[in-house]
Amino acid sequence: MKILVANLGSTSFKYRLFSLEGSSASMIARGGSERVTDYGAAIDKALGELAGAGHVRSAKDLDGVGFKTVFAGELTGCVLADESVEKALRDTADLAPAHNPPYAEGLRLFRERHPGVPRVALFETAFYQWVPDYARRYAVPEAWYKAGIRRYGFHGASHKFVAERSAELLGRPDVAEVARRLYLDGPRTIPGAPLRVVSCHLGGSSSVTAISDGVAVGTSMGLSPQSGLPQSNRVGDLDSAAVPCAMRRLGLSVEQAEKQLCKESGLQGLSGVSNDLRDIKAAADRGDARAQLAINVFVHSIRHWIGAFWLDLGGCDALVFTAGIGENNAWLREAVCAGLSEIGLTLDVATNGSAPFESNLAAPDSRTQVIVIPANEELVVAREAARLLAARKVNG
Ligand code: ADP
Repeated sequence: MKILVANLGSTSFKYRLFSLEGSSASMIARGGSERVTDYGAAIDKALGELAGAGHVRSAKDLDGVGFKTVFAGELTGCVLADESVEKALRDTADLAPAHNPPYAEGLRLFRERHPGVPRVALFETAFYQWVPDYARRYAVPEAWYKAGIRRYGFHGASHKFVAERSAELLGRPDVAEVARRLYLDGPRTIPGAPLRVVSCHLGGSSSVTAISDGVAVGTSMGLSPQSGLPQSNRVGDLDSAAVPCAMRRLGLSVEQAEKQLCKESGLQGLSGVSNDLRDIKAAADRGDARAQLAINVFVHSIRHWIGAFWLDLGGCDALVFTAGIGENNAWLREAVCAGLSEIGLTLDVATNGSAPFESNLAAPDSRTQVIVIPANEELVVAREAARLLAARKVNG
């Protein structure tokens, strides 16, 4: 099966072409355009490049196009992206203003140009469909809840991949199978003690997810990706009273407050140095106190959520790190795992600094394993799209 995955930013169009057979998947081409003003032209260019390289003759050779859509309120999952999905993306753009307009537009253009090629949307909220009510309701008036104010969760593609892969690495193919088929079959009860995983996606934006037997049961992300851990430029969790208070004290408009919380906060706002953890660490190592504070706040917040989910799950079989920060910074993993021997996690510091991806980084006597699983979100979109399209073929 050939699946094209389209990654749309507010001014970019990137693509990867995957070939999938059974359980194996490989990327066969990638490319894209920056500073895009016309997504239609970018789509034509991508297909022209793929045809020029001999990967496809035309769009007709594609079995589907996958889109990693972010948010459309109650509409979630891995779904065929018809016009109602485009409308849902437009209707909910207030909470995902950077992502929803380009995805709505990209889906429309693919539909108009290549109506015979199925389009699949994999929502970043999809993995959280089965989070229990008590973990996704805010204590707001009922009218607010009915207006959609609740915890949705994000980074679903990445955390679901962790759910599948960690179960394989921990020798639980039964759990891996439930995780793989989750969007087709929903959760399945597995007899015996559940496999408990806490997944830390730490990158340009970051979140922690609690996973029980392959299914998410909690997330640090809330109503929007503007929540949970401090992000590169976004604030993360904040007392709701802080917004009106800062607006009054600093004389800010709603738009100014939103912009400052979205662009001038997070690791950037705390450190005053950069939104990139590499720069912040280098500054901290040179003695910059604000940079060190940003690191301390970030680590504290990661540990806060790990601790919350550790209790929720009644223990933790594996603590997983993924994405740019989680994969590449042994010093940060060491800081996150410090002083946890009492509750059953002891990191092997030497192994943490040297072992290849997907090794167990914990000491031999540690009850909890520590594993780095590299993220590949485009691959996840391709896999989910292929699963959906294959299931549709089987079911007629
Ligand atoms: P995005 O979320 O934008 O896809 P990443 O997952 O790559 O980006 O996360 C970006 C963060 O990961 C940055 O803060 C950066 O410091 C960190 N990072 C990425 N690559 C490395 C690396 N090779 N070494 C250390 N840190 C890295």
